[in-house]
Amino acid sequence: MIWPGIIEAYREFMPVSKRTPVVTLQEGGTPLIPAPRLAAEIGADIQLYLKFDGTNPTGSFKDRGMTLAISKAKEKGAEAVICASTGNTSASAAAYSAQAGLKAYVLIPKGKIALGKLAQAMIHKATILQIDGNFDTALTLVKAVADKYPITLVNSINPYRLEGQKSGAFEVCDQLKGSPLHHFLPVGNAGNITAYWMGYKEYYKRGIITSLPKMLGFQAAGAAPIVLGRVVEHPKTIATAIRIGNPASWKQAVAAAAESKGQIDLVTDEEITSAYQMIAGLEGIFCEPASAAGIAGVIKLNRSGYFKSGDSVVCTLTGHGLKDADFSMGISQKPQSINGEFEDLVKALGF
Ligand SMILES: *Cc1c(COP(=O)(O)O)cnc(C)c1O
Repeated sequence: MIWPGIIEAYREFMPVSKRTPVVTLQEGGTPLIPAPRLAAEIGADIQLYLKFDGTNPTGSFKDRGMTLAISKAKEKGAEAVICASTGNTSASAAAYSAQAGLKAYVLIPKGKIALGKLAQAMIHKATILQIDGNFDTALTLVKAVADKYPITLVNSINPYRLEGQKSGAFEVCDQLKGSPLHHFLPVGNAGNITAYWMGYKEYYKRGIITSLPKMLGFQAAGAAPIVLGRVVEHPKTIATAIRIGNPASWKQAVAAAAESKGQIDLVTDEEITSAYQMIAGLEGIFCEPASAAGIAGVIKLNRSGYFKSGDSVVCTLTGHGLKDADFSMGISQKPQSINGEFEDLVKALGF
């Protein structure tokens, strides 16, 4: 079967009609990869699975929401869309707008966007506006402009974004043939944790799953407004995709954690970096730094004795590591130079 993208795959759960023009790059249908070596390395007796959403068309889970947001914008006759972004939303908005024939405008914090993400927005011909301010300022600005002028906002406060992103939960349940016990993920603007919880609850209501997971969200320590219970004016973290001080879906994320008997906690940049290296080195999966916050959370909770033997644990890896190769190169072993002689190669190999 050819995967049709999340709107067609889950049409009965999506707010679309026959008249909705489906704009899709066949997003979703991403792998759920068992991670036994990682689990063993951290000393956790759990069934650990990685939902690798870095394999989406533009390399992040944002595509799940963007296919629906752009389809609905086109349905209502919009000609242009706008978003604020830490990078991945702009990459996704630019790509789907190109396919839809819409004009895309993106506001980004100057100098704080991973190179790969900027490259994506540029090649798809979005108009990129860099501001001397952070993501939160950019979001305030685009909200104000979309309120007043005929341009569609495609940040996750656009309800269609979350409706599309909930497909991640459907896929996990379809792949596991049931709900996991625990679902971990990074939290930035808090849209994804909100969307996953919506998805799980919809599947539960339909009787497709018979239990619900605990939702466990992790913020970076320097950008942890939900954990601290107050807006962070100057969020700081190497995980640029979750460098957010005033999340748009703050209340919904708190509700998801509370209703599911999960929690929202924080992990340090060191813990994120270490998890990032372990995922790549032990499981062969290259995710971006922000994506590793969920696994850093698994490691943190495991240390405190949180899991029971055999628990099923899913962690969403939200984006692809190639987007931020500068970061990975900076912490990896450098290539060695050898002469182009057989003996030099033999010596370098340690024979
Ligand atoms: C957007 C993003 C996040 C944060 O998701 P929210 O829905 O904003 O909480 C995490 N990781 C990556 C790679 C992202 O692009």
